[in-house]
Amino acid sequence: MPAVLLLKENRACVLTKLNVDSGTASVIWPELPDSEQVISLDELDTLYSGYVIYARPEFQFDERTSEISRNRSGHWFWSVIAENRGLYRDILIAAVLINLFALAMPLFVMNVYDRVVPNHATESLWVLAIGVLVVLCADLVLRVMRSWFVDLAASRADVRISSHIMEHLLNLGLKHRPASVGSFANNVQSFESVRAFMGSMTVIALVDLPFVLLFALIITLISWPLVLPILIGGLILLFYALSVQHQLHSLSERSMQAGAMRNGILVESLNNLETVKSFSSESRIQLIWEKTSIFLARTAAQTRLLASSISSGAAWVQHTVGVIVIIGGVYQIIEGNLSQGGLIAAYMLSSRAMAPISQAAGLLGQYHSASTAMASLNEIMALPGEHRKDTSDADLPPLRGAFEFRNVSFTYPGSEQQSLLDVSFSISPGEKVAILGRNGSGKSTIEKLMLGLFTPDTGTLSVDGLDIRQYAPSELRRQIGYVPQDIALFYGSLKDNISLSRHNISDQQILEAARVAALGELVGQHPHGLGLQVGEGGKQLSGGQRQAVAIARALVSNPPVLVLDEPTGALDSNSEATIKANLEKASRDKTLVLVTHKTTLLDLVDRIIVIDQGTVVADGEKGGVLAALKAGKIGSRKK
Ligand code: ATP
Ligand code: MG
Repeated sequence: MPAVLLLKENRACVLTKLNVDSGTASVIWPELPDSEQVISLDELDTLYSGYVIYARPEFQFDERTSEISRNRSGHWFWSVIAENRGLYRDILIAAVLINLFALAMPLFVMNVYDRVVPNHATESLWVLAIGVLVVLCADLVLRVMRSWFVDLAASRADVRISSHIMEHLLNLGLKHRPASVGSFANNVQSFESVRAFMGSMTVIALVDLPFVLLFALIITLISWPLVLPILIGGLILLFYALSVQHQLHSLSERSMQAGAMRNGILVESLNNLETVKSFSSESRIQLIWEKTSIFLARTAAQTRLLASSISSGAAWVQHTVGVIVIIGGVYQIIEGNLSQGGLIAAYMLSSRAMAPISQAAGLLGQYHSASTAMASLNEIMALPGEHRKDTSDADLPPLRGAFEFRNVSFTYPGSEQQSLLDVSFSISPGEKVAILGRNGSGKSTIEKLMLGLFTPDTGTLSVDGLDIRQYAPSELRRQIGYVPQDIALFYGSLKDNISLSRHNISDQQILEAARVAALGELVGQHPHGLGLQVGEGGKQLSGGQRQAVAIARALVSNPPVLVLDEPTGALDSNSEATIKANLEKASRDKTLVLVTHKTTLLDLVDRIIVIDQGTVVADGEKGGVLAALKAGKIGSRKK
């Protein structure tokens, strides 16, 4: 105890005590938390669906234990595959049986030739035939079941792994954001080839490989010299396959890179089609596209040529081995070491033995594209996520809105220039602050740090007295209303874009937020109202409307902190005035951090911080700083 009882009609309760003697049980209903109720077992029995969930705390390894025991959750891919080990064990058993059954046919033929035909023993023939037919039927059933199990294992793993990959991608910190969306997407999508490899008959071909030895052994028993061609043929195939391995690998690596590049171009140009057209840069993109396409086609042709040379070579070796077995067999018969039936059995076994070898060789091409994909996915999955399990991110109190920057320096990943340099200031709860500065001075960067989108390289940033890293990022951001400088909307209705599927937001709140953001007219006069479709990226709205939606989105959940980056940059003066008046009311008891180039909006704030080239050059009460700015007393950062 406690255990969760699943009840009829999709209900559940928590069972805390069971008193069999008195025939009662203590339960907690989810509708009435904190209150335990004692009910009779009979009553519980009428509700109980027969299912119960037991839970017990998982043992947690701490820092002192070795890395291995702490990383028990294991590899993102192999651990999921290992979960299906029961299925794979069954597949293996089926493979063993199928391979044993494969011996039936050659032995049948051998006995018919050697014993039945010379003696006209039709009764034995029928007995043998019935036996073989039974084996063939069992073989059929096993084969069908085996491929069904392979599929089942692959599809089970597929669902788990793809959801895991997506979860990881969404959790990636912006620090590890890929440089190119298209090529990153391509790498993620390459999971398809891993899946195809796992789900195809590949696994089966590999399982069959060891049975080559069994068939070879039986042939040795029939007549040992006949096993030599098989061994030699197998070795030749193996050497050839190994010799092209390296080339196949580098080909699949190159085609993956070129594919990623091509996808990068595709996504970028489709995203910016309007810009591409406006500046007539179609030909440049077309040129890059054609070049990568030619390269891709060439590598694909080379890969196919190599792969088909392996499989055609394998077929050739298989047939040649068969011919040599027959030639050798005839000499053996002449010398009296082998019966006619033995020759036929040996021939059948030899082709059976060569089949998995050539099948495995033919799969090398597929294997290399899967392993290249796996390597790039491994790289992605090894990137650290934002949400760490080891922080105490439980139950932090609601934000009050005190931010303190202490000697914060920050450089964007992959950038050579420091964007913030030794920035120190603090904002107390309820304060209204504007951050001013020239283009590229680091204003947006400060706001991104406040949202925990990036973390300072040196120095500390604390929120309400706690280091910002103590907060779960999503928890922190939920309590900050943010209007970014680059506004992105998602395909969906206006309502979806304002509420962003936060479930605790009512239509009333959405309407109110739309009104505050001066969207009232758009919502009121459009036939679809809040259901208006904004299009992918919000392309069906005007620039100003998009910005207004972003403001509504920031205000809708009534967060205690507002962080606005140029909230009115695209708005006309009417809307700006409306929003300014509404913001003044809405932000009365909130902390407000405002980046703006518009002097009118400065009415909202009491304090101004001026940034230049990543450092604070002025910080103080509004009137004083404005006067100093006008007088030209606040210069740029001293070099
Ligand atoms: P603006 O008024 O034009 O919005 P800003 O003050 O908001 O300017 P930031 O966006 O904070 O400027 O940029 C500060 C510096 O950081 C700039 O020099 C810019 O080149 C650099 N920078 C900004 N974003 C990135 C990024 N994602 N990667 C690398 N460097 C960046
Ligand atoms: Mg900016």
